Amino acid sequence: MKVLITGGAGFIGSNLARHFLRHDPTGEVRILDDLSTGRIENLDGLDVDFVKGSILDYDLLVATTAGVDSVVHLAALGSVPRSIAAPRPTHETNITGTLNVLEAARETGIDHVVVASSSSVYGSNLALPKSEFDWTRPMSPYATSKLATESYAIAYNFSFGLKTLAFRFFNVYGPRQFADHVYAAVIPKFIDAALNDRPLVIHGDGLQSRDFTYVGTVCAALFDAVSRKVTSKDPVNLAFGTNTPLIELIQAIESTLGVPARVQHVETRAGDVRASRSDGIRMRELFPTVGPTALGVGLRETAAWF
Ligand code: NAD
Repeated sequence: MKVLITGGAGFIGSNLARHFLRHDPTGEVRILDDLSTGRIENLDGLDVDFVKGSILDYDLLVATTAGVDSVVHLAALGSVPRSIAAPRPTHETNITGTLNVLEAARETGIDHVVVASSSSVYGSNLALPKSEFDWTRPMSPYATSKLATESYAIAYNFSFGLKTLAFRFFNVYGPRQFADHVYAAVIPKFIDAALNDRPLVIHGDGLQSRDFTYVGTVCAALFDAVSRKVTSKDPVNLAFGTNTPLIELIQAIESTLGVPARVQHVETRAGDVRASRSDGIRMRELFPTVGPTALGVGLRETAAWF
């Protein structure tokens, strides 16, 4: 298999590149990444064809896309707070960038594109667990951009017969997710704080819960999707229905690291959702060989990388 991973120097992309090369040693992995949030060191030791550049550079994107079997489109500006601080860059990278990826696939005759959407699209719909057939109501520019990402992918499926698949990721965690920037995700931030005897900062009461998904599970689903060219005219929640409140996450981190954690509660954040949990039904139907990773196992792998 030849695959292009946009955003392949980032957290999920670099784990995916490793997963591909491990499971398909004769395959080829091409990566297009502008290194805006990704790091070249994430690809250390990997035999990949790395192209430094942006998905907003359409000619470069076309040249990089030509000749692959599938595109896994992960390049995006992540983070809800970042998008609230500056909506326009999020719009350009995540929405215009996705349109470019789909157009480049169409122009070069590539027939399969997997895109990364997010559980944040459910927004103010508080129903639990989340089904792909629930209504969506984004609460931030980031969530809006992810809804546009998946909508474009699905529209290209209907309009042009492009085999697309839109995964909604739910709070992915694992090795190569860095703690040292202002928009870092909660698990690396908490592990880093606990290891360095800093307080673990919780926005609100700590009862907000997430369907934390280990990156190895995400990579297994993406690899299976590319191997079988899985396509769907509806999005797919890439999560299995675990429900972990932050205060339980902290206990699990304490037991994984063997150190006690200090917790500091601060005000809630605009655009944050209270609870997020998939029903896991479509995921299990479409990907019967992919299963969840227990939180304790995923945390051990993550802590070992720190
Ligand atoms: P990440 O920031 O580590 O990776 C994104 C990569 O895209 C980075 O390497 C960055 O340099 C690259 N990039 C950004 N703008 C680019 C551009 N214009 N051209 C080329 N490359 C560009 O983030 P991640 O956590 O690995 O997320 C990957 C995808 O999954 C994103 O689309 C994100 O929205 C989505 N997602 C992630 C999570 C999660 O929990 N990590 C949850 C939901 C959705």
